[in-house]
Amino acid sequence: MEISKRAQKLEPSVTLAASAKANALKAAGKDVLSLTVGEPDFTTPKNIQQAAIRSIESGKASYYTPSAGIKELREAVADYIKTYYQLDYQANNVIITDGAKFALYLLFQAVLNPYDEVIIPVPYWVSYGEQVKLAEGVPVFISCAQEKEFKVTVEQLEEAKTDKTKLLILNSPSNPTGMIYSEAELRKIGEWAVANDILIVSDDIYGRLVYNGANFTPIATLSREIQKQTIIINGVSKSYAMTGWRIGYAVGDETIISAMNDIASQSTSNPTAVSQYAALEALTGEQDTVKIMRQAFEARLNEIYPLFAALPGFKLEKPHGAFYLFPNIKETLAMCGYTDVTKWVDDLLAEAQVALVTGAGFGAPENVRISYATDIDTLKEAVKRIRTFIETKSTK
Ligand SMILES: *Cc1c(COP(=O)(O)O)cnc(C)c1O
Repeated sequence: MEISKRAQKLEPSVTLAASAKANALKAAGKDVLSLTVGEPDFTTPKNIQQAAIRSIESGKASYYTPSAGIKELREAVADYIKTYYQLDYQANNVIITDGAKFALYLLFQAVLNPYDEVIIPVPYWVSYGEQVKLAEGVPVFISCAQEKEFKVTVEQLEEAKTDKTKLLILNSPSNPTGMIYSEAELRKIGEWAVANDILIVSDDIYGRLVYNGANFTPIATLSREIQKQTIIINGVSKSYAMTGWRIGYAVGDETIISAMNDIASQSTSNPTAVSQYAALEALTGEQDTVKIMRQAFEARLNEIYPLFAALPGFKLEKPHGAFYLFPNIKETLAMCGYTDVTKWVDDLLAEAQVALVTGAGFGAPENVRISYATDIDTLKEAVKRIRTFIETKSTK
């Protein structure tokens, strides 16, 4: 049978594909260094594991939960937003979802009609455009120059705007670039969105992973009007090392949250109960482990950034958040005799056993994404192998 047009048009996630490929080679006994993964290499903190175990043993985790999530967790999210954003929300402004990824999916399903346009600054996280297409919306990509820290400007937004524009997606700190918008930049963008009645989707998943004194400003905090115009997307995956548990959330206008909940009730029913109890402990329990993990990422960034930046042809500013480097390697490709970054990445894996992710999947075909959510020895060894690979190709 022929599969649907919808499924045929979908681009599978390049990041998941790249890490699956690296893992398959490792399983086959190859000494592969994988810098592909978009997840912390730490295990979930003990207090969170134990809360999950308690919820299983007490029987609480045996049953369906409300489709928007257990009340305690929705309230904990509202309290968390109060603490970190100083914004007031109630439990009915919150939906708990199967990861932040599914919060985005539900949001697009809940607000987009066919041909509605969604502005997505490039480079973008791999799922935004594909999820918009699954909701029959139209992704409108705006290229953001590396010289301008990959940041979109109001002038660019104004140019991209049409009477079909419904949403703008912002992701700061950014996957894949690690850049962070300043408060002044966000204020301009926020005011533009309010003036044009465009809903801001603020993907704040890396908000607590910022380094070397950088500040994360959530756009929703900049004014009452901007707050009303924003849906906050966040989750526990990245800050609490909980990617496998699949818990994210959306916070914002009650009507939108309620529409998302209706769709969830007819699709997943509810996020896994045991994971919700784990997330409850993550948000309400001690926060020291978050700080320890943040410091570990910062120390690694400071150690490995100069090493990667010194690789032949790598053009790379130091990122301020998340856990990725995103160098432009156009010159490296030329030195090695390549025109295609994806081919270079494939050959690097085959010949030097280092797995990176091609920038093509993020809309940036001259870049590669390097995750430093792995141990320092692996990172240093990867630098050596990449250097040797480039030098070998260059002298041929
Ligand atoms: C990892 C990630 C997500 C999704 O995380 P979940 O594990 O689904 O909660 C969303 N946005 C960005 C930018 C990410 O990197």
